[in-house]
Amino acid sequence: MTNNANRYDVIIIGGGPAGLTAGLYTSRAKLNSLLIEKGLVGGQISTAEKVDNYPGFPDGIDGFELTDLMHRQATKYGLKTVIAEVTGVELQQKQIAVKTTEGDHIAGAAIIASGSDRQKLGIPGEQEFTGKGVAYCATCDAAFFRDVPVAVVGGGNAAITEALHLIKFASKITMIHRRNQLRASAILQEKAFSEPKIEFIWDTVVEEIEGEDTVKRVGLHNVKTDEKYTMEIAGIFIAVGLKPNTDYLKGILKLDAGGYIATNSKMETEVPGIFAAGDVRRNSARQAITAAGDGATAAFYAEKFLAE
Ligand SMILES: Cc1cc2nc3c(=O)[nH]c(=O)nc-3n(C[C@H](O)[C@H](O)[C@H](O)COP(=O)(O)OP(=O)(O)OC[C@H]3O[C@@H](n4cnc5c(N)ncnc54)[C@H](O)[C@@H]3O)c2cc1C
Repeated sequence: MTNNANRYDVIIIGGGPAGLTAGLYTSRAKLNSLLIEKGLVGGQISTAEKVDNYPGFPDGIDGFELTDLMHRQATKYGLKTVIAEVTGVELQQKQIAVKTTEGDHIAGAAIIASGSDRQKLGIPGEQEFTGKGVAYCATCDAAFFRDVPVAVVGGGNAAITEALHLIKFASKITMIHRRNQLRASAILQEKAFSEPKIEFIWDTVVEEIEGEDTVKRVGLHNVKTDEKYTMEIAGIFIAVGLKPNTDYLKGILKLDAGGYIATNSKMETEVPGIFAAGDVRRNSARQAITAAGDGATAAFYAEKFLAE
C-alpha cells in the first residue's frame, strides 16, 4: 500500500551516473524526487580505481569518489535515496507504481537508470583480481596496460573492439575464444587478423586466473584436445557479453532481443511518463559521461512531461 509519504513527482531507478545526474536535475527543478538503489550508490563506475575520461578531472579520479561527489551534489538539492531492489513497475491510471523489496512508491514520472552488468566468466580468481588485472572495458582501462601482454576473452564484436583498442597500449594481445571461428562482423575480423600484435587461441576456455597482488597468469583448457596449460599475462579483458538490468520491466516496456530499452532522443520510452537513461538504453555508448548526459536529458523531459 502506498501513502502520501510514498508519493513523489519522479522516481529514479538505479544510482549510477545516469540516475545520480537525473536526480540532480529533477531535484534542482524542485521536483520531489526519489532514487532507489539496490546496492551501493554509485553503479559500475564506483568500482573503477581510476577514471581518466570523465571531464573536469585532469589527473583522473577514483570511481567511488566521483559518484560520491555526484550523490552529495544531488542530495544537497533534496534528492531522497532509499536502498531497496525494484521488483516491478505498474501503471495505475496516470501514476507509475514502483514496487520494491522495502515497500511501494508512486510517482508521476519514472526514470529507468538500472544499467547493465558485464557477463562474468564465473571462474576462480575473476572476482579477486577485478580491478587488479581483470577488466571488462578497454576504453576505460587499456591505458593501465602499457607495454605488457594481455588476453581478451570472447569472439564477438565487443571482444574484437576491445582487442583493437588495446593495440595502442599492450605489447601483445592474445584473443582466447571457445570456438574455432569468430562471431564478429567480417570487417572487424579482417582488421584483427591483419594486426600483427593480435594472436588467437582457438577452442579454448579460461579456467582460472592467478596472480599475487595483480594478475600474472591464466589457466587454459583446449576443449578439443583436452590439453591444459598456463599462459603468462599481466591483464585479461573479459568481453563475453552484457546483461541489462531490465528483468523487472517485463510486461510494461518492450525490450529488444538483448533486453535493452528503446528510447527516442528525449529518453522517452513507448510508455508516457517512463524515461530510460544510461547503459540500460539500446545503443548507449556505455560510458559514465554518456550515462550522465542521458540522465540530464531524461530529467529535463520528465520535468516538461509533468508540467504538461
Ligand atoms: C570496472 C569498470 C570500469 C569502468 N571504467 C570506466 C571509465 O573509466 N570511464 C567510463 O566512462 N566508463 C567506465 N565504465 C563504464 C561505466 O561504469 C558505465 O558506463 C556507467 O556506470 C553506466 O552508468 P549507469 O548509471 O547507466 O548504470 P550503472 O553504473 O550500471 O548503475 C546502475 C545502478 O542501478 C542499480 N540497479 C540495477 N537494478 C536495480 C533494481 N532492480 N533496483 C534498484 N537498483 C538497481 C545497480 O545496482 C547500479 O548501481 C567502467 C565500468 C566498469 C565495470
